[in-house]
Amino acid sequence: MTPLGRRLAREIAATGPMPVARYMAECLAHYYATRDPLGRGGDFTTAPEIGQVFGELVGLWLADLWLRAGEPAPVRLVELGPGRGTLMADLWRATARVPGFHAAASLHLVETSPSLRAEQARRVPHARWHDRLDEVPDDAPLLLVANEFFDALPIRQLVRTGAGWRERMVAHDARGFFACAGATPLDVLVPPAFADAAEGSVFELAPAGTAVAAEIGSRLAARGGAALIVDYGHAGPALGDTLQAVKAHAFADPFAGPGEADLTAHVDFAALARAAASAVAHGPLTQGALLTALGIGARTEALAARARPDQAELLRAGTARLVGDDAMGSLFKALALTGGAWPTPAAFPARAS
Ligand code: SAH
Repeated sequence: MTPLGRRLAREIAATGPMPVARYMAECLAHYYATRDPLGRGGDFTTAPEIGQVFGELVGLWLADLWLRAGEPAPVRLVELGPGRGTLMADLWRATARVPGFHAAASLHLVETSPSLRAEQARRVPHARWHDRLDEVPDDAPLLLVANEFFDALPIRQLVRTGAGWRERMVAHDARGFFACAGATPLDVLVPPAFADAAEGSVFELAPAGTAVAAEIGSRLAARGGAALIVDYGHAGPALGDTLQAVKAHAFADPFAGPGEADLTAHVDFAALARAAASAVAHGPLTQGALLTALGIGARTEALAARARPDQAELLRAGTARLVGDDAMGSLFKALALTGGAWPTPAAFPARAS
């Protein structure tokens, strides 16, 4: 067993099963603090790592909004969970020719992992780092991007038992870690439509994610700005156990080897939009629809025209992976949030008034 596994097993032996949320938080803190999960020999890959066009288009999307909002200066340009810093590096390069944008934007990276901070500093040396969004000064409009950040935050799971809804807990015995149900009735936390779901059904809540969304919403409402949240998940509340472990690009058992695999859960975009209700929500659109509307096809061909034939093929394959319905195109979704007086973001439908 891993040292973290031994510690969690000892704690469970002493005080009883722990909520899935606590188990997930402990595993994630260990996992992200001890490796670069996106690097060579890593566990998973993400849209910005697949192709430079992703960060470029996100950058131009933000810069276009900033121009149409009247070029406010200064602005706080923030990324949550920047991974290797690839998205921000591509975004920054792509916006270099937007007059005034670089001079107006101060760069803030919200990242808890020391090893990933070091990776980010190589690609975005002029940034400032923070452990949490609420440490970023809130004195100016906010331009925020978060790709595959919310799926990496701990979730609560409730499980339907014969007696009603209970916290899903993690227990441990000689065979290892396994899930069981807590004792406290928690039916009040479940939407009425799911009250009588079949025994064994799982409903998920994301208190850490909704707290961050609420902070984004209140900053946008107070100072203006825009946020783009891209992640995989569903547009509204759904039943299902989406807790998933990935190791070396393959699914793994979330209860085996605590802290050694990436743990994620699907994002409920409606819950994020509700938590950020002091801002205006747009979408979610599918990632495929967003990138297509922003011109990923033309941008890819422009790059391919200047590349060797084998590189051109890689560029086209990367784009197909980002937008394809059989790849990331429809599972991944993009939710935009804007402050009250800011214009409707590119690619998102104008709101009926
Ligand atoms: N956005 C990047 C990386 C996604 S992986 C990309 O698309 O490639 C998740 C990122 O969130 C990592 O950088 C991880 O270290 C960071 N992270 C996870 N939990 C966090 C937390 N609670 N606070 C800040 N950063 C966190």
